[in-house]
Amino acid sequence: MESSRTPLSVIGIGREDIMKALVYHGPGEKSWTDVPEPQIQNPTDVIVRIDTTTICGTDLHILKGDVPAVTPGRILGHEGVGVISEVGGAVTQLAVGDNVIISCIKSCGHCSFCQQGIFAHCLGEEGASGIGWVFGHLIDGTQAEYVRVPYAETSVYKVPEGVTNQQGVLLSDILPTGFEIGVQYGQVKPGDVVAVIGAGPVGLAVMATAGLYGAARIIAVDLDANRVEQAKKFGATDGVNSGDVDWKEQIMALTDGWGVDVAVEAVGVPQTFQMATEIVRPGGRVANVGVHGTSVDLPLQNLWIHNIAITMGLVNSNTTPLLLKLVASGRLNVDNFATHHFKLHEMMDAYDTFARASETKALKVIIDR
Ligand SMILES: [Zn+2]
Ligand SMILES: [Zn+2]
Repeated sequence: MESSRTPLSVIGIGREDIMKALVYHGPGEKSWTDVPEPQIQNPTDVIVRIDTTTICGTDLHILKGDVPAVTPGRILGHEGVGVISEVGGAVTQLAVGDNVIISCIKSCGHCSFCQQGIFAHCLGEEGASGIGWVFGHLIDGTQAEYVRVPYAETSVYKVPEGVTNQQGVLLSDILPTGFEIGVQYGQVKPGDVVAVIGAGPVGLAVMATAGLYGAARIIAVDLDANRVEQAKKFGATDGVNSGDVDWKEQIMALTDGWGVDVAVEAVGVPQTFQMATEIVRPGGRVANVGVHGTSVDLPLQNLWIHNIAITMGLVNSNTTPLLLKLVASGRLNVDNFATHHFKLHEMMDAYDTFARASETKALKVIIDR
């Protein structure tokens, strides 16, 4: 059989078709390693050369084994900006050379969920399970030199003049997630007092966008004194250290005494969800943004009589164009999110820095080609 094999150069598998990527090998195991470059599989695909990517808390959850749908061999990452290097035959609105933001949520543009703007549950063939988040989950992701993007015309956004890659990569996930699942689902209104529990990147994205709907007060709540202080650069008007014994009284003192209008949970553990239910006023809203890995005890016996609305969800990313305009015009300042910079080949160091965020004070680690 050896002698009948087609020479590698003829079928195009040569040096130029190997790239580096961050590959998940099962819980606790990852490597920056050689893998085949992605190929166009469907006529609506494009291939993007990744120029800027980053790491999300969700990637750390995957590495802990919390997301069993991610199987060994998968390239991680769902945030990225880069230049289109190849387009499928049905792509007419994008061209080789376009600089684009890859949304963490793919949208086929024509399934019943996409027609309602609920891209999070796009039924497109890549997400037959009805989940729009495919990159670094159900298909190979963006922590690589190249990535295949399905349904590209409805899943990427051209980077406008004046927007940097570092700003653009925040629009792949954290800004739309904070705005849609925290601010919009929480129905923030002019004059509201909003508390955000958890001042990590997504909690800070909630704080940065809550002002767009006129929040009067934005209270950052975190155990880490440094993060509480830093939050003021992202739009927080007040800060409360949840390690203080009187943390709840401190929050109540920043309201009219009845509690906050909107309590946003941006951590993803039972204790912080419980905190949100304890500080919300009658008629208020609890917006859960955190990614939970275990059940939460819901004290309905106390909450029902207070007319509390509880919301949660996976980002639809249908506000990405709106947020992109605000970043481009300078109305939404997002320059403080990036705390550390790496090159793609330093991916393992970037993970190490991000995983030790409490020591390194990392928010977003920006990884450039
Ligand atoms: Zn993410
Ligand atoms: Zn769809």
